[in-house]
Amino acid sequence: MSNTSYNPYLTAQAQFDNVARLLGLDEATRELLRQPMREYHFTIPVRMDDGTVRIFKGFRIQHNDARGPAKGGIRFHPNETVDTIRALSMWMTWKCAVVDIPLGGGKGGIICDPRTMSEREQEQLCRGYVRQLARNMGPNLDVPAPDVMSNAKHMLWMLDEYETISGGRFPGTITGKPVGMGGSLGRTEATGFGVIYVLREALKKLDIRPENTTASIQGFGNVAQYAAKMYTQLGGRIIAISCWDNTDRKAYTYRRTGGIDVEELVSITDAFGSINKDKARELGYEVLDGEAWIEQDVDILIPAALENQITAKNVGKISKQVKIIAEAANGPTTTDADKVINERGIFLIPDFLANAGGVTCSYFEQVQCNMNYFWDKDEVLSKLDRVMTSAFHAVYDVSAARKLNMRDAAYVIAIERVAKAVKSRGWA
Ligand code: NAD
Repeated sequence: MSNTSYNPYLTAQAQFDNVARLLGLDEATRELLRQPMREYHFTIPVRMDDGTVRIFKGFRIQHNDARGPAKGGIRFHPNETVDTIRALSMWMTWKCAVVDIPLGGGKGGIICDPRTMSEREQEQLCRGYVRQLARNMGPNLDVPAPDVMSNAKHMLWMLDEYETISGGRFPGTITGKPVGMGGSLGRTEATGFGVIYVLREALKKLDIRPENTTASIQGFGNVAQYAAKMYTQLGGRIIAISCWDNTDRKAYTYRRTGGIDVEELVSITDAFGSINKDKARELGYEVLDGEAWIEQDVDILIPAALENQITAKNVGKISKQVKIIAEAANGPTTTDADKVINERGIFLIPDFLANAGGVTCSYFEQVQCNMNYFWDKDEVLSKLDRVMTSAFHAVYDVSAARKLNMRDAAYVIAIERVAKAVKSRGWA
């Protein structure tokens, strides 16, 4: 979204085409899987606090549901595009397949800026979104969740609207709900922790001890904060964090070579993952350009902000010291940059494997809602660790056996699983 010269949908299709060719996938399956099965585009009228009515644009895209109901977040962003949602819905299909959970891929979005909207306006927007989509979502159809700039509160408003329309209680309709209201313990941590579970396994494979490593992270929202926590728990040291500044409307990188203190930095960060620049300076952080995160002399880079952040323009700035890139964000690397990273032999853990912890925990949330019995946090996180660890090793083994990079290996597993479901159903 912030880098409009790249179209993530074209990136997603190029990645798919590449592996479809490799697998010798037949024409009909290729045609079916390289585009979404269904798209809903609609308008959402909201009466604003000043009495005027504003019309927002909403989308829900269901890429494929051969393996189970569509699943994926709803993003709130002023620069949201339908092609971004298409790409993300496609990545959700591969993500659910690579961790082998019985769900398909979907994604939603609203072109809006919740940072400039009151609580009441946000509630009306959430309810309006569901009023438009209610017929085409549900626990057995399509199950939304929070994503960029949407949160548990938004999900509960959406669920409430859905249940009001449907006349019953259907907690499995939406995940990422507040704990105590059908939410799962560990969901907030799941994506970020999941990134580090697979990073930990990659370090083992490369024979590197986490406590001897340093990292630089782009983003300091939900995913990045918990990834940072878990990585420092493993003994790693974070040198730099980059995030968006809501006041200046530009990104900055916060660097402290001795290492950042995650809790301290969280305490000066707002709910949208924007760090207070002045307070950071007081705490001894250097405030650098937004792009500086990518050129740090560290062992690990974790893009955890938005898509299209590592591009042909800045990939050359990645330090020779970097050994691993863990893609916590969706689609952070463009195809041309990916090629360079591959040629340099940097071990890249692809997005739809690295950040699958979120949807895996969402699946756990649905399971718990269906049973109406909720697990404690340790149980959730240990189950999550098992799923992520085993998915990592499955991908690593295919990558070693077929001499593929990790992205292509993850695609091979995911596409084979989805193609099998599509074929078994007689769709192709
Ligand atoms: P978030 O809104 O909580 O945080 C986003 C962070 O990115 C913020 O700190 C923001 O300041 C920063 N940012 C935005 N533009 C930036 C820029 N140009 N430079 C530097 N920083 C910038 O979002 P999140 O939930 O943490 O999601 C981050 C990424 O992870 C997204 O790509 C999202 O699709 C993906 N993801 C999220 C989840 C989840 O469970 N939340 C699951 C899977 C994937």
